[in-house]
Amino acid sequence: MPKSKKKKKETNKIWELYKVEKGSLTLENKMCPKCGAGVFLAKHDGRESCGKCGYTEFKGKNPKKA
Ligand SMILES: [Zn+2]
Repeated sequence: MPKSKKKKKETNKIWELYKVEKGSLTLENKMCPKCGAGVFLAKHDGRESCGKCGYTEFKGKNPKKA
């Protein structure tokens, strides 16, 4: 059987962002309540999310629950 070339898995962009944020951590970064200490939430526009478990925290306006 011919060797099937597996496509290289593209690194999740979230992790790239995470690395960058790791280099410039500030006190503003919240820790993930699910993962605990050591895991910080990545800042996004209007929200912060955990790159590990996917926990997302919305900032500012509270979205109405439909
Ligand atoms: Zn998490």
